[in-house]
Amino acid sequence: MNRTVGVLALQGAYQKHVDCLSRLGVDTLLIRKASELDQCDGLIIPGGESTTMSLLIQESGMYEPLRDFAQVKPVMGVCAGMIMMSASVDDQRVKPLQIMPFRALRNHYGRQVHSFSADITLDFDADGDTFHAHFIRAPGVETLANGIEVLATCNDESVMIGDGGHIALSFHPELTDDARIHAYWLSNINV
Ligand code: GLN
Repeated sequence: MNRTVGVLALQGAYQKHVDCLSRLGVDTLLIRKASELDQCDGLIIPGGESTTMSLLIQESGMYEPLRDFAQVKPVMGVCAGMIMMSASVDDQRVKPLQIMPFRALRNHYGRQVHSFSADITLDFDADGDTFHAHFIRAPGVETLANGIEVLATCNDESVMIGDGGHIALSFHPELTDDARIHAYWLSNINV
């Protein structure tokens, strides 16, 4: 049976994840209401604006359903999506889903340089090419518990973390043609 990955489409940069997943031969579904999660084997929470996304998640009645989904299926959170996966955020306007035990720091890389790119080493492919990572007003990470694995760093900061099922990233892996990160996360999906 083919896997179906949901991409939360309430707000933000969801379309390029759909393109990336289709290149990998994976079916996708844009998710705008809770019942649509039933058809998904995994979920991507994309980048965007976490204060807005947080409000829309609550207004659409998806707060608890997303938490329930993450108990049983893998989630990948990118940038604002990473912020939504955290246990706590340094901005009270965001009500995080508390999917992974880390604290997210919004716009951690400063107001002057909102965006930058860097070639980073992926721990799961340490002998392979570096990954060209785009950071766009990216969040920082403070891990809060042992179960979290740091999967990539940039200038000694954790920028990709995982717990064996979920992954959360400060940067946008969907903005390159390099699908290694999506493929890595997909290997957590059992169907
Ligand atoms: N700075 C945004 C936030 O705090 C995240 C930016 C992004 O997703 N690229 O929500």
